[in-house]
Amino acid sequence: MSVHFVIVGGGPAGVEAASTASRLGASVTLVERDVVGGAANLWDCIPSKAMIATGGAIALTRRSTSLGISLAAASPDLDALCERVRSISERLSSSTKRQLESQGVRVVHGSAKLVGPHKVQVSPYQADGHQVDPFVAEADAILLATGSTPRVPEWAGVDGDRILVTRQAYPPPTIPEHLVVVGSGVTGVEFVHMFRSLGSRVTLIVSRQQVLPMKDPEVAAALESDFLDSGVTLVKGARAVAMKRSGDEVAVMCEDGRSIVGSHALLAIGSIPSSAGLGLDLAGVETNDGGYVPINHHCQSNVPHVYAAGDLSGRLPLASVAAMQGRKVAEHVMGLHTRDHRHLDYDKAASAIFTEPEIADVGLAEAEAFALGRKIRVTKVPFAVNAKAMIDGDPRGFVKLVSDPSTGVVLGGSIVGAHAAELISVIAVAVTAHLRVDDLAETVFVHPALAEALSAAAE
Ligand SMILES: Cc1cc2nc3c(=O)[nH]c(=O)nc-3n(C[C@H](O)[C@H](O)[C@H](O)COP(=O)(O)OP(=O)(O)OC[C@H]3O[C@@H](n4cnc5c(N)ncnc54)[C@H](O)[C@@H]3O)c2cc1C
Repeated sequence: MSVHFVIVGGGPAGVEAASTASRLGASVTLVERDVVGGAANLWDCIPSKAMIATGGAIALTRRSTSLGISLAAASPDLDALCERVRSISERLSSSTKRQLESQGVRVVHGSAKLVGPHKVQVSPYQADGHQVDPFVAEADAILLATGSTPRVPEWAGVDGDRILVTRQAYPPPTIPEHLVVVGSGVTGVEFVHMFRSLGSRVTLIVSRQQVLPMKDPEVAAALESDFLDSGVTLVKGARAVAMKRSGDEVAVMCEDGRSIVGSHALLAIGSIPSSAGLGLDLAGVETNDGGYVPINHHCQSNVPHVYAAGDLSGRLPLASVAAMQGRKVAEHVMGLHTRDHRHLDYDKAASAIFTEPEIADVGLAEAEAFALGRKIRVTKVPFAVNAKAMIDGDPRGFVKLVSDPSTGVVLGGSIVGAHAAELISVIAVAVTAHLRVDDLAETVFVHPALAEALSAAAE
């Protein structure tokens, strides 16, 4: 008898769960109210990285003389940029939807909510956006993967014109003359880099004394130094408490009385889960104080056949993690967890920050090991001695490898530098597969390649 699996939300978690479960033989219905691919595709990962890619190309032209090229100054074409961002997101979304449908997934464009422990009410939308009559889908298992939305406190005075949240920044109506970014976590620093490379003057309000407060201090210091070199102003130890617009100016007021004035302000201070209006109480699904749905290691909520994954689950808010959770949920729903199943280890998820230079890390960080009092071996190799980095004209950054001094097992690593988001995959595999530093050191890498810095760090 086929398992009826209903998924609410078509972001990375929902899509991966739908694809895996359908491959394993479930009858799958996926309900998505915006676009397949989710907020990740429409607002977050994809548009931000597409804008950053354009900014990176412009930044490269600024360094062109060091590559032996004589080039006129490049500037962004806002219309072309917006069209490019829209088109990438649309192509990704339609190809994902086509693929799911070809696998037999029933994809419904509409909104959904729980109306009982095994019942999901689906309100489909027509092509023109109008809702048609709702129907109730009976489900053996349900996945809630509705994601999150940017946190917008009342004091922020967001107006969508000059005081923006991230989702209002692309396509930007204009390239801001002077953008004040509030929030120095991953999203905040990526927007600093994005708009600085597109030509804006940028000021970053940092509530503590370090950007990226959760990251290795050496990594954060490398980014700060690059920001300062590229003309970004850092205002440290400043907690924003109000944002006010007056004419063409925006003032960000800080707790200590400082006021920072720019042409635009952007708020990047985290997100809140999309759990309101989902009918959780009608199925007996509990949330925590923050509105997230707590889960166990199978991503089950307190109601065993109702799962939560992605940002809604309050775990690591990354598209990659959401997708892996989705896959694990599908495997559990289909009973595969009883064989050869590895739980998702959130501590071993690789992550990257798409600034310039890029930053990426995985596993145990040096500062974390120090705080835990754990003995580690740390080896560090700067890209300044790497042939490919010299050839590419970008020798910024380093590779740092953390290993167990007694066994040589790779525990983690950080990379600051060009293509760090790609290179970290090698360390991520090593951490997940419990490889030793010798395994990396004895692997014959391509020459000349940035990856050679990894084997050098493993020696
Ligand atoms: C600016 C920014 C950049 C980011 N960049 C990266 C990155 O580079 N790499 C990375 O790994 N992570 C990145 N993230 C994080 C990543 O976007 C999220 O972790 C990821 O999108 C979470 O996926 P999800 O499956 O929870 O759902 P989401 O992508 O949030 O999608 C949830 C979907 O559910 C739908 N939905 C909600 N309620 C209902 C309902 N009642 N009925 C039907 N549908 C509903 C929504 O329309 C939405 O499409 C970024 C985040 C931000 C804010």
